[in-house]
Amino acid sequence: MKRLVLLGGGHAHLGVLADLAERPLVGWDVHLVSPYRRQIYSGMLPGWVAGHYPIESCAIALDRLARNARARFHETAGRALNAADNEISCADGTRLNFDLLSIDTGPLPATDLLPGSLEHALPIRPIEAFVAAWPGLVDRMLSRCRRFDLVVLGAGAAGVELAFAARHRATVDGWSHVRITLVGSGAMPLEDAPPCARRQVARLLSQRGVTWLGDRRALGFAAGRIDFDQGPSQGFDACLVVTGTAAPAWPRAAGLATDEHGFIRVGPTLQSVSHPQVFAAGDVAAYPDERPKSGVYAVKAGPVLAGNLRAVCEGCTPRAWTPQKRALYLISTGNRHALAAWGPWSIGGDWVWKWKNRIDRGFVRRFGTTA
Ligand SMILES: Cc1cc2nc3c(=O)[nH]c(=O)nc-3n(C[C@H](O)[C@H](O)[C@H](O)COP(=O)(O)OP(=O)(O)OC[C@H]3O[C@@H](n4cnc5c(N)ncnc54)[C@H](O)[C@@H]3O)c2cc1C
Repeated sequence: MKRLVLLGGGHAHLGVLADLAERPLVGWDVHLVSPYRRQIYSGMLPGWVAGHYPIESCAIALDRLARNARARFHETAGRALNAADNEISCADGTRLNFDLLSIDTGPLPATDLLPGSLEHALPIRPIEAFVAAWPGLVDRMLSRCRRFDLVVLGAGAAGVELAFAARHRATVDGWSHVRITLVGSGAMPLEDAPPCARRQVARLLSQRGVTWLGDRRALGFAAGRIDFDQGPSQGFDACLVVTGTAAPAWPRAAGLATDEHGFIRVGPTLQSVSHPQVFAAGDVAAYPDERPKSGVYAVKAGPVLAGNLRAVCEGCTPRAWTPQKRALYLISTGNRHALAAWGPWSIGGDWVWKWKNRIDRGFVRRFGTTA
């Protein structure tokens, strides 16, 4: 029996597991390695912070999905890869040999660039660690009678959504002493979005009472303080760090070809350009034509990865894939309102939130929630 190891339960691997559940691989023993039994869907995380969803509705039951796919589930993280001997070493001491390896472990938080962030602030990733810590932070906010400053550092889509979500929760639950500030390095939030979306977000931040602090590049943290490359420091009672992503160190250490940031370089078939027995997809991969690190591209890679892993297992030729140039982004802005951004266009409304809600709930339901 040959062995296929799926490392990580990210968006693309959800598609692979669903495909295997429909049509098992003959003559292959499949293993899934994931540190958690569930995969929290990041698109719904701001909705959980806002109080729209219980966490169970935002989580996909990976162990059940693996069982349906006839894959053996290992609740542990991959720590090192021996690409010469085709072996993965895991945090719990498990060693897994493979004939074919597929990696969809997502990104790490870019906290190495921000000294003090792990001690003094709360990074959004790993998402499970954030989910475990957020209720304690809410208790801290509630137990305070005087002003509480919550800062969200990082004004990409995730930071913007979290700032709006926290604002919504504070308004609905009557946390009138909580002040929310969104800090970003650009003059306006949502650096990569079309100018009209950026203007709309800036206007909504101001309407909803979130303070915007732009042109601030953070250098590091001290207790209750962020220091910037210019301008005065920003004090806080709590700070969420949503400043982008970094690559894990082990792919490069294993000798896999990586880009300059350490993300695994793959060709159009999603195979490593240096090790064809290794596939990678999602944020951990560097595609031939660079694409933004985003869940949309990780989801779109799923069916291609499923087809190509199956092709290689069955001795066929994998097919080339070019990720679409543009992706639709649906950005929740609190108060059951959202913006849709596509290329240079954007539009906002309560109906956009309803649309996003339907897509997000449909996505997790397709793979099976833990609810
Ligand atoms: C708050 C928030 C909101 C977002 N909203 C959107 C959105 O609306 N639209 C959008 O396109 N993008 C969104 N993103 C970005 C999106 O989350 C990522 O681009 C997406 O998760 C990448 O998917 P992935 O499959 O590469 O990895 P992930 O979704 O991160 O999945 C990786 C999996 O691998 C596991 N893993 C990690 N390390 C290991 C290891 N060493 N061994 C084994 N398993 C491991 C993890 O536990 C996880 O289950 C959002 C991000 C955040 C933080």
